[in-house]
Amino acid sequence: MRYRHPKIPGVDNNCLFCRIVAGEIPATVVYETDTTLAFRDIDPKAPVHVLVIPKEHHPDVVSLTRSDPAGAADLLAAASAVAEAEGLLIDGFRLLFNTGEYAGQEVFHVHGHVLGGGPLGPMLVPR
Ligand code: AMP
Ligand code: ZN
Repeated sequence: MRYRHPKIPGVDNNCLFCRIVAGEIPATVVYETDTTLAFRDIDPKAPVHVLVIPKEHHPDVVSLTRSDPAGAADLLAAASAVAEAEGLLIDGFRLLFNTGEYAGQEVFHVHGHVLGGGPLGPMLVPR
């Protein structure tokens, strides 16, 4: 599936993260490549909370991996570079892709959450 932006090919004007890529909405960018962008989460859930996205619009990680495997590899490389730049490699970090309704995905432009900077607790809230 491809989306269009009036100014930038491949960018959807109605998608929040496409609009960050297009520079229409401000973000605290910490890392950028030709194909990826990483910026701080506006509502951090850990001392370090960075979102890593492909610049092209793909709704979720399954869609990205199926339609652009090289882009998926770029995204993992970007997440790794962010983790290193944020000083998370020694003590560890979490890389999380919420996907779909049960996972509570809110923004349907694939994004990896890079979480770290302190103990993160259990992976899931016990129930
Ligand atoms: P998810 O629930 O996996 O879709 O995560 C969406 C994330 O986007 C949440 O952690 C939000 O805090 C974050 N978020 C929403 N709007 C913005 C924004 N304008 N800039 C940075 N992060 C945002
Ligand atoms: Zn998008």
